[in-house]
Amino acid sequence: MASYIESRESGVSTDLFDMAEQYPFSDVHFWRDPETQLQAIIAIHSTKLGPAIGGCRMIDYPSTQAAVKDACCLAAGMSYKTAINRLPFGGGKAVILKPKHVTDRRALFASFGRFVESLNGRYITAMDSGTSIADMDVIASQTNHVMCTTTAGLASGDPSPHTAKGVYYGIKAAVKFKLQQESLSGLHIAIQGVGNVGYALAKLLHNDGAKLTVADPNPLATQRLINEFGAEVVAGDDIYGINCDVFSPCALGQVINAHSIVQFNTSIIAGSANNQLQTPDMTDALAARGILYAPDYVINSGGVLQISYLNKPDVVQHKLAALYDTLLAIFTQAEQQNRSTVNIANGLAEKILAGANDESQH
Ligand code: NAD
Repeated sequence: MASYIESRESGVSTDLFDMAEQYPFSDVHFWRDPETQLQAIIAIHSTKLGPAIGGCRMIDYPSTQAAVKDACCLAAGMSYKTAINRLPFGGGKAVILKPKHVTDRRALFASFGRFVESLNGRYITAMDSGTSIADMDVIASQTNHVMCTTTAGLASGDPSPHTAKGVYYGIKAAVKFKLQQESLSGLHIAIQGVGNVGYALAKLLHNDGAKLTVADPNPLATQRLINEFGAEVVAGDDIYGINCDVFSPCALGQVINAHSIVQFNTSIIAGSANNQLQTPDMTDALAARGILYAPDYVINSGGVLQISYLNKPDVVQHKLAALYDTLLAIFTQAEQQNRSTVNIANGLAEKILAGANDESQH
């Protein structure tokens, strides 16, 4: 199996089958419902390990091709994430092309629920950027194949605090490896995006005595960080150049790019955002700058761990803490073998995927 990260290129073909070559997914489904303005895509990367799970995001896309690319990349990331954590799930992802004006959000998500139901359990949806627990509850009125609801279906609530906890352990592992320090006390950590995950992460870091600098276009989000944790706030892209120990991207994908790489003034990059590397060669650029990178789909797997072990909070806490060891092992192997941390993580995930039965794979 080709690595999705290795196959990700900046140029995007508009031909779906060309894209299938670039992003080795299993199948992609489209749903259009003019009555509710819903235009949605579900990409399934693999069902080798079990039904494909992955969130549903509703954001602005410049084109349908960009939305398909996002869904396919994210679905592949989910396959790698479930594999590296040895979970009985495959990888999928849904995207809803955000309508200009949502007239009836309930109807929109009910229609999306029918879309999920039409796949008969091959794909299980969940919350992601631009969608909420309330949306998941509406989806649950149409299908059982939904997580992150309050009570229906696979009720698990908001995964963000668990994702944040996993990122916290990942940062601790990176600090131990790179800075030979057990404690985060006195370290300077810059967080890009203090929404659901970023806020919960900031709380954990602040409790450990870290100094925080944050950026977020939402003034309410940054004000909360100032009030509760005494954080410094910088505007927009200024966050990239902050002289810090850890830069933690918790907002957008592709933030490690030609524009940002020359600005980083950090020893470590470790955050929750999906698809952080704009192009595969960014791993070389990070190595050249001496920056330790925690592979995104490993460090941000806390949410999927939580929804995989519903009603087993002790197991979830144990698995979250185990991310420390997983990442430490990845960092160590990368150094010993003079390979990138992404390369090591991909190798581990691909080995597990290759060893799985192929019964449900197309
Ligand atoms: P969120 O929407 O709650 O928060 C994102 C925050 O980023 C918002 O406050 C937003 O204003 C801010 N933001 C947007 N553009 C920004 C910019 N240019 N600079 C700085 N801040 C900016 O999302 P979330 O649930 O906290 O997720 C954050 C990231 O982590 C996303 O990339 C998501 O895909 C990823 N992730 C989340 C989870 C989870 O459990 N929520 C799990 C895995 C991965």
